Amino acid sequence: MQLKEQLFQTTQARFGSAPDQCDDHQLYEALLILARNMSQDRPAPKGDRKLYYFSAEFLMGKLLSNNLLALGIHGQVKDLLADLGRDLGVIESMEPEPSLGNGGLGRLAACFLDSIAALGLPGDGVGLNYHYGLFRQKFDRSRQTEAPDPWMERDSWLIPTGVSFDVPFGGFDLKAVLYDIAIPGAGGGCANRLHLFDVAEPADAPWVGIDFDKGDIAHRLTSFLYPDDSDEAGRLLRVYQQYFMVSAGAQLILSELESKGYPLNTLADHVVVQINDTHPSMVIPELIRLLTARGMSFDEALDQVRRTCAYTNHTILAEALEKWPLAFIEKVAPQLAPVILELDRRMKEAYPDPKLAILDGEGRVHMAHMDIHCGFSVNGVAALHTDILKNSELKHFYDIYPEKFNNKTNGVTFRRWLEACDPELAALIDSCIGADWRQDAKKLEKLLGFQEDESVLERLLEVKQHNKERLCWVLWASQHIEVDPQSVFDIQVKRLHEYKRQQMNALYIIRKYLDIKAGKLPERPVTILFGAKAAPAYVMAKHIIHLILCLQKLIDQDPQVRPWLRVAMVENYNVTWAERLIPACDISEQISLASKEASGTSNMKFMANGAVTLGTLDGANVEIAQLVGGDNIYTFGQKSDTVIGLYKGEEPDGRGYRPLEYYHRPAVEPLVDFLVSPELLAIGDPASLSTLWKDMKNKDWFMALLDIEDYIEAKDRAIKDYGDRRAWAKKMLVNIAKSGYFSSDRTIEQYNEDIWKLK
Ligand SMILES: *Cc1c(COP(=O)(O)O)cnc(C)c1O
Repeated sequence: MQLKEQLFQTTQARFGSAPDQCDDHQLYEALLILARNMSQDRPAPKGDRKLYYFSAEFLMGKLLSNNLLALGIHGQVKDLLADLGRDLGVIESMEPEPSLGNGGLGRLAACFLDSIAALGLPGDGVGLNYHYGLFRQKFDRSRQTEAPDPWMERDSWLIPTGVSFDVPFGGFDLKAVLYDIAIPGAGGGCANRLHLFDVAEPADAPWVGIDFDKGDIAHRLTSFLYPDDSDEAGRLLRVYQQYFMVSAGAQLILSELESKGYPLNTLADHVVVQINDTHPSMVIPELIRLLTARGMSFDEALDQVRRTCAYTNHTILAEALEKWPLAFIEKVAPQLAPVILELDRRMKEAYPDPKLAILDGEGRVHMAHMDIHCGFSVNGVAALHTDILKNSELKHFYDIYPEKFNNKTNGVTFRRWLEACDPELAALIDSCIGADWRQDAKKLEKLLGFQEDESVLERLLEVKQHNKERLCWVLWASQHIEVDPQSVFDIQVKRLHEYKRQQMNALYIIRKYLDIKAGKLPERPVTILFGAKAAPAYVMAKHIIHLILCLQKLIDQDPQVRPWLRVAMVENYNVTWAERLIPACDISEQISLASKEASGTSNMKFMANGAVTLGTLDGANVEIAQLVGGDNIYTFGQKSDTVIGLYKGEEPDGRGYRPLEYYHRPAVEPLVDFLVSPELLAIGDPASLSTLWKDMKNKDWFMALLDIEDYIEAKDRAIKDYGDRRAWAKKMLVNIAKSGYFSSDRTIEQYNEDIWKLK
């Protein structure tokens, strides 16, 4: 049937009217139904071995545009709507964004699903159907406030499956109901599934505040993504969520295995489970429990599970490594505790070193330790990160299991992060090298042949300028922020965390502000844009947001500074914002303290869109620097081994990092002290600003003062170099040309080659 006819029938059936009579939202719903049905009708990829990608988060972003692209009908739909005098972009903007993730980790899972399907590999995601995504961020008197973020409308991408499993909790059972989102593979004819489990009777969504009834598990288990884990009850709820996800997921795996006619003792031949960070780690003891309950011996069950499960580590921040009190697990899933204890006993027998224990002396279960002992693969997410795991963080494990450790440098899907979000750039690339980079991003390297092509360089600058102007409109329309599209766009968007060092960027802003006030003008006008949510309980992160918003206001009110320096933070940073901001960026801020950012993925998105990185040698920045070479990136700051030495107290003199010494440098002190200057105190909250000021001087746990001088120098240099437009365009071109390595298609091919071995 013709697409036109399908659209007509859909709107008729749904709204009793023809497409030309529908409003934007109705057309959006009709297209959603059409794309959902087409995806659902596609067969699963073939193969007798299947991947289950377990993740507590899938930060999918809006799906309409990407699904139309994957189904190969984006252009047709666009033309069809144009005939009706309608704009597909406007229709797409009707879609609410499902924010079922916090940041990079959840977005990675979404990019992976896209690539797994595009490569035609049999692999489904397993997660939870949160009714509210991450909170919606609003600014009120220069502070973050949090509001609920519902995303499910009458029509959504969810497909009810009729499948459900009983999950046994301590004292009660709960039915886990399965919904699917179909993931069509781009350029192919197959579709995988994202399996999202939900409770059978979800509370019908009245928002009851961030302090929702934590006891009301049966109705509210899937209400929220990652409820605030700052208190005991919230942490307990998180264990409930994790067990619900993995128990239902493990039952799904075994039922699919059985329905294909494979005996249980072939599990490891037909199934591979990728554990995305430790949130799904309980799938290991749960699978063992289910297998032994079906008559398998513990030895055999452990052997099967060990050959089935693989673990991805995402962080070396100690506070982010999950350790659940065994008492929690005994309360939530008492049947799991004996399995964990038996695993612990066996591992201790084989490896008595307490550093390798699953259960520590304080009765806490180290989820990562269980994953490493009981899985066949442990991977880091960038070359430097994996090296740090092997040589320091997980060295004891690497010593006993060297064969399990491997690196899989992260990637992003170029279908969303170039083709869909920057169509003008995609078209320019097509005109230079043809369109096959869309299937194989490595082909972007052919762009290197255009480094001396004046017209291509000029077009590249034009496309960037258009994207900047487009962003200016969005900023104005959404928040009445006015910025100069002729200025340099310097962008830092990512979760707010001290290790990512937004506070260091704020110190740079202060430097420029003071300079301009003193009559020393910058090389050219600069716009510094932020987007960041702080975890509701992360007090220091909220102080940093407050500081940035105060600086924004201070500069806004100052006619002397405004023409040269603008600062703005977008409200509610999410995937949709990222898709607007990234194509408009000149300088990509990737300034985490070396050794702390496992990989980063926004660094890759920016690079693919022709931004030049200003960054530390951390995470995947190291690999970006190697690929583009020193002329096409601005690196600065102390290296990871120095930083690790500082933490251990080895450097510089056996006494470790002492921020006060850096604070007292003449170039640094005025910047830090500006936090408690009369100008800023008149705008902001004195308690908040002075807490931040004291912390920066006395603690500075993530060493912003260590690198600040180097950072200012490097950033000034980048802004100066921007003025040589031809040389800058060349840097942009080299970055785009070299970005192909960071396609998640490449990452997934490596996972498949080394770990999953599908097909
Ligand atoms: C890519 C992405 C991230 C990850 O950003 P990093 O800078 O790598 O931490 C976070 N949030 C959103 C919405 C993203 O699209």
